[in-house]
Amino acid sequence: MSLTLKEIYLASTQGFCAGVASAIEVVDRALVKYGTPLYVRHHIVHNTTVIDDFEKKGVVFIEDLDDVPSHSTVIFSAHGTAPIEFEKAKKRHLNIIDATCPLVTKIHREAVRFSSRGVQTVLIGHRGHQELIGTSGYVDADNLHVIENEADVSSLNLDVSRPIGFLTQTTLSVDDTQGIIAALRVRYPTIIGPPKAGICYATTNRQDSVKQLTEICDVIIVCGSPTSSNSNRLRETSQALGVDSYIIDTVDELDLTWLEGRFCLGVTSGASVPMKIVDAVVKRIRDAYPGINVNQDPSKEEGINFPIPNI
Ligand code: SF4
Repeated sequence: MSLTLKEIYLASTQGFCAGVASAIEVVDRALVKYGTPLYVRHHIVHNTTVIDDFEKKGVVFIEDLDDVPSHSTVIFSAHGTAPIEFEKAKKRHLNIIDATCPLVTKIHREAVRFSSRGVQTVLIGHRGHQELIGTSGYVDADNLHVIENEADVSSLNLDVSRPIGFLTQTTLSVDDTQGIIAALRVRYPTIIGPPKAGICYATTNRQDSVKQLTEICDVIIVCGSPTSSNSNRLRETSQALGVDSYIIDTVDELDLTWLEGRFCLGVTSGASVPMKIVDAVVKRIRDAYPGINVNQDPSKEEGINFPIPNI
């Protein structure tokens, strides 16, 4: 007899992290204060639905500040922006609103501190990701060494007579990053870095939650956009633990054949995913499997808020 889906377990941490909630609030408030068109450099957060909703309200997302008329207002995204872009914006007399997550800003400050002391800085992250591009801008170019994985450690050729440090992107795999840092410490025993890497609480909590789901579920759906680093890490984490896992941007991408012959489904979401997407996924599954049980443990993120910058 084939199994039928009976249970849904929702990850305890769902919805926006504090950094994403704050960045979205900044855009909402700026829309009220400055009207449209309102310019945002880079997608404010990496979620297709959030971006589509803002575009409908008159927000214009750009990558190049030359596309913003001088004297306009421009918001810098939650992922952080390199100093050179602030300089460009000032030269063009743009009114800058910086929506960088405070946890990314903390890493920028560490990068500046390292460079002021001549520390050779190993930056662990995904090349081409906006956060990594932003943070790289705070490190002296001569002292910057970007690596993505453990294999990259052996290609480093740092001067051991000079100080060496590491920093990380906030949305990496906790487990993979521990492996990279361990390899760095073996090769460069004097290397310095933040005690808990730089992976943020939201990324860590979501990876912990999906690991818990893998203990009870036989299939996992991750809600998140293809551009979202922390959403992709969730799918990889559960897949690596042996549970078939699928990432979907919206409910339209949900393929019910994935659930055939399964008993227990886990549903999780990245830190930039609106709850309405998770709710729509759960509704579609409830409609397909009437009477299915939906379970969720309390979130440990209640009450975490970041201040909204002045606009
Ligand atoms: S995922 Fe982490 S670093 Fe990124 S916005 Fe959220 S709290 Fe900030």
